Amino acid sequence: DIAARLTRVCDVNCDVARLGGDEFVIVQYGLKNRSQAEDLAAQLVSVLRKPSTDIKSTVETAGTVGTALYPQDGRTPSDLMKSADTALYVAKNAGRACYRIFKPEYDHKLQRRRLVETCLRRALQQGNFTLNYQPIFNLETKVISSVEALLRLNDPDVGPISPAEFIPVAEEVGVIEEIGDWVIAESCRSLAILPKHLRLALNLSSIQFTRGDLVGTIMRAIADAEIDPRRLELEITESLLLKDSDDIQEKIQRLKAIGCTLALDDFGSGYSSLSYLWRYPFDKIKIDREFITPISSNADVQGIVEIIVDLAKKLKMVVVAEGVETYDQELVLAEIGCEQVQGFLYSKPVPMSELAPFFLRSFIGSTHQVALQKSKSA
Ligand code: C2E
Ligand code: MG
Ligand code: MG
Repeated sequence: DIAARLTRVCDVNCDVARLGGDEFVIVQYGLKNRSQAEDLAAQLVSVLRKPSTDIKSTVETAGTVGTALYPQDGRTPSDLMKSADTALYVAKNAGRACYRIFKPEYDHKLQRRRLVETCLRRALQQGNFTLNYQPIFNLETKVISSVEALLRLNDPDVGPISPAEFIPVAEEVGVIEEIGDWVIAESCRSLAILPKHLRLALNLSSIQFTRGDLVGTIMRAIADAEIDPRRLELEITESLLLKDSDDIQEKIQRLKAIGCTLALDDFGSGYSSLSYLWRYPFDKIKIDREFITPISSNADVQGIVEIIVDLAKKLKMVVVAEGVETYDQELVLAEIGCEQVQGFLYSKPVPMSELAPFFLRSFIGSTHQVALQKSKSA
């Protein structure tokens, strides 16, 4: 059926072949321009999207297309195939059931991804991962309430790589579980040596919920480090809730039952359905930096944040503003009644050894004064 669909779309100037498995190759000769190649690719995606009905039951099908052009993308068949493969890879990453025509920058992207993958595997072997900790403060009392563990990868050859870059790669190549297990164990060990009134938050990838025994891993880490589970906060993003399966729901409930605090990270960005707030047992909402950055200059954004803060209070959830960088932002957040704050204004994520000053009650007060004096003399 698929072969028939492909040959139907292709004209006499095409060779259609099956490489094996679910991979096909089409060679089209005599193209006049790039847009003809795009037309063919778009047609292929569209014919492959129709469900198969020539058998008794209906089978959903979809195809992703990567295209390379001769001679610019490769002069030999193997170079052309390599470029087409790269374009296919990019198309699959863009969400499948679409097409991409090769561009030289795809090669750079792919090379960088491979490099990051190498660094990840090396880091797992050699232990190049570390955790930094960013304090979270009560806005009114200026007392530190918790720290968020943020993963750092410093490769001996490549240097530091940001989690925003390596976490997606780790998820894709299937090492996020192993990395996540380490983050969980290391965070719990750190929590054991932090003052007892502090909590520690760690970030979980949605993949950790769908593969392996996340709840068991967390329970073991808590037991090994001999910490109170109520001091452990788990930050999850809505990408997990989008999946909305019974299995995920159950795992979230079990983590809650152990006593862990659940925080909804990056709230307001992406799809943020309000129904997450009542369908899942969150204790905390973290408002995404996207809303905090313009808060002191944009009345609409301020209004939105105000409503999120009120909503959180109604639902008896703690609300945290992420990415606070200026006193103007802090002032607005205080007016609105936001309970907790986190951001470069107070501290960047730092190694454990540099956290001690924040445990002093008057810490923020004193930095405020220093900053105020600076702004006066400026
Ligand atoms: P996140 O959990 O929302 O963490 C907050 C990010 O914002 C951190 O970036 C932090 O350094 C940054 N940040 C905090 N305050 C400010 C500020 O005032 N201004 C600006 N511009 N940025 C601020 P980081 O450490 O690069 O982490 C990025 C993301 O990577 C995290 O976002 C989280 O989603 C993910 N991530 C980090 N560590 C882990 C981990 O151990 N496991 C998993 N699954 N994801 C992690
Ligand atoms: Mg977080
Ligand atoms: Mg966040």
